[in-house]
Amino acid sequence: MEKKNIDWENLGFGYIKTDYRYVSDYKNGAWNEGGLIEDDKVVISECACVLQYAQTVFEGLKAYTTEDGRIVTFRPDLNAERMIQSAERLEMPVFPADRFVDAVTQTVKANAAYVPPYGSGATLYIRPYMFGSNAVIGVKPADEYQFRVFTTPVGHYFKGGVKPLTIRVCDFDRAAPHGTGHIKAGLNYAMSLHAIVDAHQKGYDENMYLDAATRKKVEETGGANFLFVTKDNTVVTPKSNSILPSITRRSLIHVAEEYLGLKVEEREVYLDEVEDFAECGLCGTAAVISPVGKIVDHGKEIFLPSGMHEMGPVTKKLYDTLTGIQMGRIEAPEGWIHVIE
Ligand SMILES: *Cc1c(COP(=O)(O)O)cnc(C)c1O
Repeated sequence: MEKKNIDWENLGFGYIKTDYRYVSDYKNGAWNEGGLIEDDKVVISECACVLQYAQTVFEGLKAYTTEDGRIVTFRPDLNAERMIQSAERLEMPVFPADRFVDAVTQTVKANAAYVPPYGSGATLYIRPYMFGSNAVIGVKPADEYQFRVFTTPVGHYFKGGVKPLTIRVCDFDRAAPHGTGHIKAGLNYAMSLHAIVDAHQKGYDENMYLDAATRKKVEETGGANFLFVTKDNTVVTPKSNSILPSITRRSLIHVAEEYLGLKVEEREVYLDEVEDFAECGLCGTAAVISPVGKIVDHGKEIFLPSGMHEMGPVTKKLYDTLTGIQMGRIEAPEGWIHVIE
């Protein structure tokens, strides 16, 4: 298979149309057979439930080439399960997990020419999503849905080297205590757009959201979970019902305990204690872990001892081990690597 003529080393994180996408339609209470198509356009009613009432959920994962030349994805069964949780919370029909993994597999296989080569650091980003497609004007869930998967090649997250982030404690809330923060829904991102634009205008890379009820506990950023390391090398990650259960974070916890022999605590993390941590990172599919160098809380600057030039030592070990597992350089736990071809 001939690869596309793409400058893999210099790819950014923008949408590039690939050749095939997967589509399945839900109508009269059932998903149709579904399959690959070439047309990238979605045609729906002007009054579609997704357009009026934001009835849509999504997932994000990556396909990449391992050291021995296989094209694989990382734990897609967990994305399938999480999309089921998200769909149920928004009164959408469930797309079966085995069909989800099959749709991802088919879409990646069909776009194999866009999967970046091993060593480039670039990946093929996969975006499964689902939305209410028929016209709904009175507030209720749609009766018809579309499930789609598209892919787009994206560049190495740390192109040009690792640069620890500066983040601020945000005065806006991301998620309500009994709301939708734990599901992967576009609506959580719509309400974060103003906060992130404002943060960028003021020179910050990301927002640290606090729990909306007490504003004393650390939740997450707009699209990544926190992972802290104490001065005696314990990994600490916030526990809350309103954060999104990151697959990267769950995998890193396993790596910390089982590969690195570190102690892990999943518990409430108070903003007050952040200044005592040795390292801080943001975990998500895009970067695996991006180190945080500085946290600004309304004029009070907290500098992480790991500094503004590199990952902290524990963060780096976690990063190297998980990316080693993903790329096939380190043996993976059973079921983590899904081989496409
Ligand atoms: C997707 C997402 C994450 C990261 O999850 P991964 O499964 O690790 O990619 C974290 N927080 C939010 C709000 C997200 O939407």
